[in-house]
Amino acid sequence: MPDKIHLLPDAVANQIAAGEVVQRPASVVKELMENAIDAGATQIRLVVKDSGKTLIQVIDNGSGMSDTDSRMCFERHATSKIKKAEDLFHIVTKGFRGEALASIAAIAQVEMRTRLSGEELGTIIEIEGSKVKSQEPGQTSEGTNFMVRNLFYNVPARRYFLKSDAIELRHIIDEFQRVALTHPDIEFSFHHNGTEVFMLPAVVLRQRIVHVLGSRYNEKLVPVDESTEIVSVSGFIGKPEVSKKTRGEQFFFVNNRFIRSAYLHHAVMAAFDSLLPTGNFPLYILYLTIDPEQIDINIHPTKTEIKFQDERAIYAILHAAVKRALGKFNIAPSLDFEQETAISVSPLRTGQEIHIPEVKVNHDFNPFESKPVKESPLPGWFEQRERNAEGWKELMSISDKFSNKPQGIVQPESNHPHQMAMSDLRPEDDYQPFQLHRRYIACQAENGLMLIDQQRGHRRILFEKYSLQLEQGKGLSQQILFPEEIKLSPADYAIADSSIHYLHALGFEIKLLPDLILEVSGIPADAPSMNITKVIEEILGQLKNEYAGINLAAREKMAWICARNASISYGQMLTTPEMKELINSLFACKMPYTSEHNKPTVLNLELQMLEQQFR
Ligand code: ADP
Ligand code: MG
Repeated sequence: MPDKIHLLPDAVANQIAAGEVVQRPASVVKELMENAIDAGATQIRLVVKDSGKTLIQVIDNGSGMSDTDSRMCFERHATSKIKKAEDLFHIVTKGFRGEALASIAAIAQVEMRTRLSGEELGTIIEIEGSKVKSQEPGQTSEGTNFMVRNLFYNVPARRYFLKSDAIELRHIIDEFQRVALTHPDIEFSFHHNGTEVFMLPAVVLRQRIVHVLGSRYNEKLVPVDESTEIVSVSGFIGKPEVSKKTRGEQFFFVNNRFIRSAYLHHAVMAAFDSLLPTGNFPLYILYLTIDPEQIDINIHPTKTEIKFQDERAIYAILHAAVKRALGKFNIAPSLDFEQETAISVSPLRTGQEIHIPEVKVNHDFNPFESKPVKESPLPGWFEQRERNAEGWKELMSISDKFSNKPQGIVQPESNHPHQMAMSDLRPEDDYQPFQLHRRYIACQAENGLMLIDQQRGHRRILFEKYSLQLEQGKGLSQQILFPEEIKLSPADYAIADSSIHYLHALGFEIKLLPDLILEVSGIPADAPSMNITKVIEEILGQLKNEYAGINLAAREKMAWICARNASISYGQMLTTPEMKELINSLFACKMPYTSEHNKPTVLNLELQMLEQQFR
């Protein structure tokens, strides 16, 4: 039998390798920028067209390459950065595998112009699908100018699977930011389709962070600085007030490489503890320096996970470092947190208590407690009440334990609200609602008393309205008297630019002005008291996190953000017609019984249960 094994032609082997190294335009951006840094550049310019699908260009003023090296650098496993296996443990450069350029040249049309310092002429080389088209001496500025055109031109399947321009641009911005945040001493710029997205002069780290993430963080950064034998931690955390509901402003760098780590993230979250509003993520940009022998550095170029030898110690040190930083700047209260919660619950203890016989409940929670409602409640007061509303659930679950079938309080199963017969929970036709503690709307129902959480109910109504608008791509807008100008971070500005139709669909009238200003002249209808800046920032944060594309779930999240910020709150007095309107609109919803996070909007106290209580 004849031999059948043969070596793959280089072009094929490179194309296979490229599948791993180059997943999308952003991967090319990362590799080229890192090469420029490794070449000692002090100035790096990134120029991108059509989110990298048409052109990715990186121009640096680094070392440049000789004529021979200009050809060599496109060979697989060609690198100037390591020579022998031991070097792997002392890597000071970003690259070391010598794979990137070979991969990129296999799946794109590449032109490289490079000149060594002191040489008069440089080299201009064109390579396409791993084949050198031309190589000749030519005029070019000192350093390297790398142009990658028509990525995946010869891998149609890969090209086809690229995401929308908006999403690919977001990936590029992410890579750009990560590189920029590790090298504040290098000047960077980034242009997309002829528009300047970032212009970052060489500065100190703190300023670089502000330039990258936005000037509103200027006063909000708290330095972290902790040096131990195992690891040094430095960088900045954001004060709790700049924390956000959406992720995207959390950065860990280990030995100046961006990494992701749920474990380390947890350490930071735990250090912030109760300082953050529930569901919020703090801003952090933290740099860990560890002896390279203590980590597995030979990680895949596109992977961002890392293995530490002593993970627990690093967790503990990081946690302590963040905690100390918060304490030093007087952000963390010196009070014990346990104590704190006890204090915050106390106002509810002062009221009279009604014991519900036979059913064991949380006695601290008392829905009928008569306590004067403050005209303008202190912030936090309602939040706390909201938490206590959880008492209902407790009440429910405990009463379940005492009888086999749920009795007394009927609450539709939140997972299947639509399975609940509407008539079960509807108010009676001719009803007179009244407001309870400016929090619930109470009215007579067929079989008892119905309570509607006014805020949750209103949110459900608005959510369905905004969802529909998003789906149809057209939102109703109301003009505001004085247009509001919001200063955005460069990344948010680029994202707003590429996703403006979603904002329009929600009902925002928006224009992008020069100098990273977003002008809002109209807001969604039915949202009179919306905090516009906050909503826009939350929505942009949400859009930034949607790498999978704007799917149903993402649209729903945006609709909830709007609904949450536009709804009436607790404490708001409602007239009878307003209550009726709210009730009618709620029961006209597709899913009236739940609000955000599947929380119930409606509770029914059945007559049967009331009778029992009065026994
Ligand atoms: P690696 O970075 O892992 O060494 P690459 O394929 O990215 O592999 O690059 C191969 C080699 O080409 C590098 O080792 C370096 O010597 C050279 N090189 C790449 N980009 C530049 C650049 N912008 N300036 C100077 N030399 C470069
Ligand atoms: Mg490289």
